[in-house]
Amino acid sequence: MKKVLALCLALCMMLFGVAGFAEGASYTPGTYTAEARGMWGTIPVTVTVSENAIESIEVGENNETVGLRQWPMNIIPQEIIESQSLAVDTVTGATVTSRGIISAVEDCLKQAGADVAALKVAAEKEPAQDVEASADVVIVGGGGAGLAAACSATENGATVIVVEKMGTLGGNSMVSGGIYNAPDPEAQAPLGIEDSPEFFAQQTWEGGDKIANKELVDEMCFNALDGLKWMESMGLEIKPGVGQGTGSLYQRTHYAVLPQGSGYIKAFVETLMTREDLCTIMMDTTAESLIVEDGRVVGVNAVGKDGNAVTLRASKGVVVATGGFAGNVEMRVQYCQGEKWPDLGKSLMTSNMPGVTGDGIRMCEAVGANLIDMDQIQLLQVCNPKNGTTSGHFNAAGVQGYVLINKEGERFIREDGRRDEISKAMIAQTDGIAYLLMSGETIYDPETQTIASGRTVADMVETGDDGWVSGETLEELAANMGVPADALVAAIDEYNAAVENGGPDQFGRTLLNYKFEKGPWYAYPRSPAAHYTMGGVQIDTAARVLSTDGNVIPGLYAAGEVTGGIHGGNRLGGNAIVDFVVFGRIAGNSASTAE
Ligand code: ADP
Repeated sequence: MKKVLALCLALCMMLFGVAGFAEGASYTPGTYTAEARGMWGTIPVTVTVSENAIESIEVGENNETVGLRQWPMNIIPQEIIESQSLAVDTVTGATVTSRGIISAVEDCLKQAGADVAALKVAAEKEPAQDVEASADVVIVGGGGAGLAAACSATENGATVIVVEKMGTLGGNSMVSGGIYNAPDPEAQAPLGIEDSPEFFAQQTWEGGDKIANKELVDEMCFNALDGLKWMESMGLEIKPGVGQGTGSLYQRTHYAVLPQGSGYIKAFVETLMTREDLCTIMMDTTAESLIVEDGRVVGVNAVGKDGNAVTLRASKGVVVATGGFAGNVEMRVQYCQGEKWPDLGKSLMTSNMPGVTGDGIRMCEAVGANLIDMDQIQLLQVCNPKNGTTSGHFNAAGVQGYVLINKEGERFIREDGRRDEISKAMIAQTDGIAYLLMSGETIYDPETQTIASGRTVADMVETGDDGWVSGETLEELAANMGVPADALVAAIDEYNAAVENGGPDQFGRTLLNYKFEKGPWYAYPRSPAAHYTMGGVQIDTAARVLSTDGNVIPGLYAAGEVTGGIHGGNRLGGNAIVDFVVFGRIAGNSASTAE
């Protein structure tokens, strides 16, 4: 990570210039500590100063999500030391974390008697220089698909440049649930689960309303296990066994050890660090258009943070991996109004990261790419009603470990069904909210079991963050949730009776692995939010982009959420990562081996 970081820093300095030293700063020498608020709690910082200089800055243990943590935690201290100033930029996409670190350092410097106001005056910057660079393959987007493509292209010995709009890598992949579907006899057979790539492909296709391109579905599903092994060979750690991820429809979901999507992104970045001679990552660089010469895509026009032009030439191919458009209100309203989701306007929150805004779709369309299934958008039912993100979600439970309860204390839908059906049913409940409820069977060790961001359940309950409540008994939990206790007890009794008689229950739920009988009980509120766009750029099984007249657009490849045709009308939970691993890998391979 450090090397890639150094590379990015060098590049940032080259592109943006560096703030100058604060003249004549003076401190009381010593080591000072302070804390500031970050995204998920406090960030402790220790600063050592000599008489005239900030010597070192250490950021201590904190709860910032791993993906966002890695960059600001390194970049901000390094920039403060290099510039000897507090006038440093925040990392795009990680503003709250960045500001937290800067303000904790400021507190330390105040303790050291510094003239903080003077340290905040930005030195004049050198005007940013335009940049021209070339590589075999240029990849637009440093999320899951882009980084997978970079790994597979460099595996073939190709040189690559990855351009990433934000100051953090990972895109929505980083903040995803980190779940991965793959038929895997080694993990499934001991649990008595029968599966096959054919069955996985059939369920994926049918679960997407049979409108996806079956060839693309097969390509993904038949390569899922191999993709997982590829990830493991690059350092991804997976928990033993399988569960059933939310909306995945079958017990073939693998769970990463590290929180959210960070295990995947870490594996990619660490792999690319070992191939520094082949891979350059340009952060804070936004691709704006594709360069076409003689009918072939040969590069990318981009713009740096300060508006400087960045022109990138690709001798073999360009891979577009800019993600979907669920966070772009204008696009989702343009493409997705219909019967299924009557209102996808700005009142609907999104789980998406700010940098993921459908740019690649526009860029590919401008060079003649065909767009398919653009009206297919997915809402995710396990989002935080306050901000639309998945913050606070206990992903590890799997559907087998929870029920959904409305404000009347009742169940209202099968929890093991499709995401769209559950989201619709949830929108129809009072305030569009349901509680995800778990028993002591699911949360058996709150001190060590962690939610998606890596915080323990015990910590969530103690702080009440994201609406987490608990109770020794169901009645106590009901009181803390503010729902009628008798209705809640009846709902759990009915659920347990269905487990006892083998189901399905009255809502059609068939995933009835164990009864919920033990306390303490836990619950937190959830709401649907715009999450994933199934439509996008049309590709073939080699990840080559197809034009509106059905031909391959020479030099242009796409992978991940920017593409359409793989998930149809509804993406199964746990298939997004399979998509970016399998097709990102294919795109990198195809582009790097192109003639
Ligand atoms: P996928 O799963 O398909 O890889 P992600 O959301 O994980 O999708 O990643 C998409 C990445 O592309 C994000 O990191 C996002 O910031 C980046 N991105 C989006 N638009 C641009 C652009 N115009 N130029 C460079 N990077 C972009």
